[in-house]
Amino acid sequence: MTSTPEARDLDTDPVGTDTVDDAGRTKRVLLAKPRGYCAGVDRAVITVEKALETYGPPVYVRKEIVHNRHVVDTLTERGVIFVDKTDEVPEGALVVFSAHGVSPAVHQEAEERNLRTIDATCPLVTKVHKEVNRFARDDYDILLIGHEGHEEVEGTAGEAPERVQLVDKPEDVDKVEVRDPNKVVWLSQTTLSVDETMERVDQLTEKFPTLQAPPSDDICYATSNRQQAVKVMAPQCDLVIVVGSQNSSNSKRLVEVALQAGASASHLIDYASQIEDSWLEGVTTVGVTSGASVPDVLVLQVLDHLAERGWGDVEEVTTANEKVTFALPRELRKDLDENASPKSVR
Ligand code: SF4
Repeated sequence: MTSTPEARDLDTDPVGTDTVDDAGRTKRVLLAKPRGYCAGVDRAVITVEKALETYGPPVYVRKEIVHNRHVVDTLTERGVIFVDKTDEVPEGALVVFSAHGVSPAVHQEAEERNLRTIDATCPLVTKVHKEVNRFARDDYDILLIGHEGHEEVEGTAGEAPERVQLVDKPEDVDKVEVRDPNKVVWLSQTTLSVDETMERVDQLTEKFPTLQAPPSDDICYATSNRQQAVKVMAPQCDLVIVVGSQNSSNSKRLVEVALQAGASASHLIDYASQIEDSWLEGVTTVGVTSGASVPDVLVLQVLDHLAERGWGDVEEVTTANEKVTFALPRELRKDLDENASPKSVR
């Protein structure tokens, strides 16, 4: 059904609720799959929920357990205290380390304060930590491609600070100096743009032709799968909405990938209420996806918001079916009450 401009209240409903655009094309939503929670985030969130249930509040968590506002706020309401540093946790208390991983120095600090720890580091981040250790032991210079200041990078580099050099921006490549060009390897943060990382690798290879690659991909399956789905979806979209927080690396990369793949516009939002009606003006196809730390309930709220404005026709664009799961941290498993089933932030 088409409404005339006169029929709309332009102050309160500037995009109206028509289900076709001005050219008569059906407004639609393309919904990327896979999107949202990855196995590492799922494990980290359940770890905190089970810790709350098993040991009771407060449960301290060092840094945001995952980079998502909604998850952090919900867990805070349930009795989690998020801290920036280990020394903010009272002596002897329980602290959970986030999915992004921590350096050996942080483990050491926790031990010195007699903290009980549960390590919710994603196993795929731990894998990169192990690679750093192995190459450092073999006396390599390690070029870690990643974003300066990101918690994961701090934890990974902290495994062998004397051997790791961070390569973030293109100009960082010029600054890299190595002891032996035949013993250099690149590794990476797990949540980078696949294409941008390969650009950085090409630059590094030009400088160090015998540069070695990681034994297996460091950018994780969830990051690359979500980017691939957006690449397929975005060329058909006038607008791509990415649900995710501003401090979520993999969510921010999805906005960049959408724009590079041909979407006319793309925005990162935490909540449906942040969608501005002006973004929807002149739009026929809206793409929707979400970062790996985003519970699907937030995506459903976006779909409701769009449906109320005429974009009720939703088509899923599936590029992979994920079946990865990780066991909960060992420290927690032994204390678990098998019968308990907390309401999850999902
Ligand atoms: S995005 Fe990848 S590395 Fe990060 S928590 Fe998820 S699965 Fe693990």
